[in-house]
This record gives sequence, structure tokens and C-alpha cells, in this order.
Amino acid sequence: MNPRWNGQFSCFDLVAKTDERPRSIVQVRDRNIEIGGGDFVVMAGPCAVESETQLMATAEAVSRAGARILRGGAYKPRSSPYSFQGLGVEGLKILRKAREETGLAIVTEVMSEEDVDVIAEYADIMQVGTRSMENFALLEALGHCGRPVLLKRGMTATLEEFMRSAQVIAMAGNPDIVLCERGIRTFETATRNTLDIAAVPVLKTVSHLPVIVDPSHAAGVRSLVPILSRAAVVVGADGLLVEVHPTPERALSDGDQSLTFAEFRRMMTDLEPYLDLQQQANQLRPQLLVVGGAD
Ligand code: PEP
Ligand code: MN
Repeated sequence: MNPRWNGQFSCFDLVAKTDERPRSIVQVRDRNIEIGGGDFVVMAGPCAVESETQLMATAEAVSRAGARILRGGAYKPRSSPYSFQGLGVEGLKILRKAREETGLAIVTEVMSEEDVDVIAEYADIMQVGTRSMENFALLEALGHCGRPVLLKRGMTATLEEFMRSAQVIAMAGNPDIVLCERGIRTFETATRNTLDIAAVPVLKTVSHLPVIVDPSHAAGVRSLVPILSRAAVVVGADGLLVEVHPTPERALSDGDQSLTFAEFRRMMTDLEPYLDLQQQANQLRPQLLVVGGAD
């Protein structure tokens, strides 16, 4: 453990856990969904909104399997300028239609402060991607967007830096933040990123904010997604963000890590016994991260 760290991030007072504020629950407008309140909330859908047919089929499938929130990027941060960049407002309109027809809430990514108002018109939750975690102008603009923020951990960010970004959003006026561990860059290349599973109990020990896990971007391959989801449940996550696509082999982005409908259904069923275990596992979670003593 980093000896310079006091173990509690108490300097980030708006997001740090205290005796007065042990846990916060993030409410999702009109949908009767609480994140961090005991229900395990699954957000699922394609990496990107590609067409109405693709999104509507996925929305229905993930809803039937038990997801409460539909994910799908309309504005995509791509590593290559030659890759599909998203449908923009047209994608937001398709998301709205899926919301109306299925009752699912919508989470979608916002990449720039200029897009905050338009995305907030359509989305229930504003996703800040790994590449934007330190876009402080964006974080500040989200302070008054009127929607909860799903803040993804930067791929090279320490937990301290992650907490700092959450504090920036809270200081700007928005206390409704969900933290998302999505894997970090390490020397390991067998997986797309390294899922930092310890981040979940650490964050839940030092912060009152809900914490979810994105196993899809962590793994980079769909075969690992169900087992990593199971680990996330047992370690105390409040939910998942999972990529699902009707035909992953034809997806315009992140097809290799997207589950088919059948795989997603099976994963949801297989998670059930582990959700029961979560209560017991939570008793193992430390109340304080104590520093000092020999390594
Ligand atoms: C995504 O959720 O599709 C995405 C781009 O995630 P990340 O920012 O974690 O790479
Ligand atoms: Mn993706």
C-alpha cells in the first residue's frame, strides 16, 4: 500500500465515506431504480447505437433478461479516427424510442461539455468514459445537468485520482455519482485491460458512492465477461455495465467483448446464487483501510 496515502481520502469530503454519510443511493428519474440501495442494477446494451433495429432488439432482449438500464453510445470516443464515431443526435432519438417502448432507463456517454445539454434531454444517466475522467471542463459542466453521472475510472488513473474527479463533479453541484471500475492498463496483455477487482471493496470502504463494474472493457473478450461479472457481485459491486449485441461479429465497435442475447440471459441466471452470497461477502468488507505495520 502506498505509504503516502492516509487510507481514507478524507480530503475529498463530498464523496468520502464518513460516519454521518456511510452510503448514498442514486435515484434514476421516473424509473423507480435505485443504484447503491441493495438492488443489484444491471445496465446492458451495445457499445454503440448502430440502427433502430439493432437497438430495439437489444433493448427488448436485455429487458427480458432482467437489465433495468439500457446502455448505448451515440457519441463514441474511438482510439482510431477511422472507426465508427457514433450516430450523434440520431442515436439519442433511437435511445429515447427504446426508453419509451421498454421502460428501461438510458445511460449514454457524453464526451464534451458542449453536448451536455442535448444529451441530458435524452439520457437518464450521463456516462463519462475512461478517456474523459480528467476532462475537468466536462466534469464541471455535469455539475448542473440534472442527471446522475456514471464516472468511469481512467485507464491509467489511481483510485485517488478517480476520487478526485468524483469530487470535482460533486463540488460543481451534482452529488449523484456512480463510480465504475472498467479495468486499467498494466503490463498484462492477455486481457484488454486488467480488472482491478480490489478497487470495488476499496472504493466502497472509502467512499459513500455506489460502485459498479464493467467487465466487458476490462476483459476485451466475451468469454471472460460472465466470470468477471460473478466476481464483481461477490466482491460487493452495486451493479454491472455489460455490452450485448444481436450479432457481435458484425458490431461496428467492441464486437469481440459483446455478449449475444443467449449468453447474456445465461449470465443473468447464473448470477442469481451469487447475489445471495453478496450479503455475506459484504460482512467481510473492511470498515477502514488501516495503514502502517510491516508489508
Ligand atoms: C464504452 O462504455 O463503450 C466505453 C467507450 O467505455 P470506456 O470509456 O470504459 O472505454
Ligand atoms: Mn465499448
